[in-house]
Order: sequence, then C-alpha cells, then structure tokens
Amino acid sequence: MTSSEFNSPIENQITPCHSKKIPLWLVLLDNIPTVFLFILGFLIINVISTLAAILFIIYAIFSVVWFWARICPYCHHFGTYACPCGYGIISSGLFSRKNSTSFQKIFRRNILVVFPNWFVPLAVGIFLLIKQYSVRILVLMIIFSITGFVVIPLISKLAGCRNCEIKEDCPWMTINKARSGKQD
Ligand code: SF4
Repeated sequence: MTSSEFNSPIENQITPCHSKKIPLWLVLLDNIPTVFLFILGFLIINVISTLAAILFIIYAIFSVVWFWARICPYCHHFGTYACPCGYGIISSGLFSRKNSTSFQKIFRRNILVVFPNWFVPLAVGIFLLIKQYSVRILVLMIIFSITGFVVIPLISKLAGCRNCEIKEDCPWMTINKARSGKQD
C-alpha cells in the first residue's frame, strides 16, 4: 500500500486498512517487559517512599491511557489487530478514530508522557546508589536498566516494529533509525 493511500483521511476514518493479525505471543512479548519495568520502578521508588511508589504506578497507568486517548486514534493501526502491542484494539473500544494525516505531529507532541516511566525510577535509583548504596538497589537498577534500555527497545526493533507496515511513517522508528545509524 502506498503512502498516499495510507494518508487518505476518508479511508482511514471508515475502514481499517490493515488486515494482518499480530499473534498473541507477540502482543505479550511487547507488553510483559513494560509491565515488569513498571513493577521494578515501583520497587526502586518504594525504597524512599511507598506513597511516591504508588503515585508512580498511578502515573504509569495514566500515561498508557493517555497513549490510547491521544496517540492511537490517529494511527493507521487504530481498530485493527495489526497493532504490535494490542493498544490499537483497546483504544478503539474507548475512543473515536481521528484523522491519521496528523499522526506524526500528534505522536511527537504526546510521546513525552511515557518518558517519566523510564527516567523517574532511573533518577531515584542513581540517587539511592549514591546516598544509601545497597546490593538490593544495585541489583534492581541493573535489572531495570537492562529491561528499559536494552530489552524493550530490542523487542520493538527486532520483533514488534520490525514487520510493521507503517514503520516508515512512524516517528518512533525514525528515532531508532537515527540512533542505530548504518547498523541496519
Ligand atoms: S501501532 Fe502504536 S500508535 Fe498505533 S495503535 Fe498500536 S500502539 Fe497505538
């Protein structure tokens, strides 16, 4: 399908243009490490404050719902089983489709909402390693860092996004491509 066909607002507002169905194992592979990251973030922040750790989990859930509300409705995968993480279907049950020609702009404007899920636990963990070092915090930080900065990006690159039909239009893939340079 050509890029201009993807960008037809009428087609995208009425009929999903992707019939591919992503297998359940891939949806789970995309989501389980993210849930694991949130749990690790909770455990790290819980070392300084249980209340802050609970607020972190509430924020993490809020950021996912924000993603469903503010990004997915503009995506070509909205309402289809072609979305690698299943958000496209969940989002379509809660929100209405929007004009997909704005997807890149909307994505860039809203993606920052998920960054605290990575960087708040990282900052708290570094603070704890400096101020009250313990083997438990070190182990949590190592697992958190590997999950958040190695495993999740690798799954996106090698599995979830690899065969995506719209990866050339996706700002997330553009960012990853710029990072990996000529490795591809
Ligand atoms: S591919 Fe990304 S933006 Fe599109 S529906 Fe799935 S999670 Fe949402």
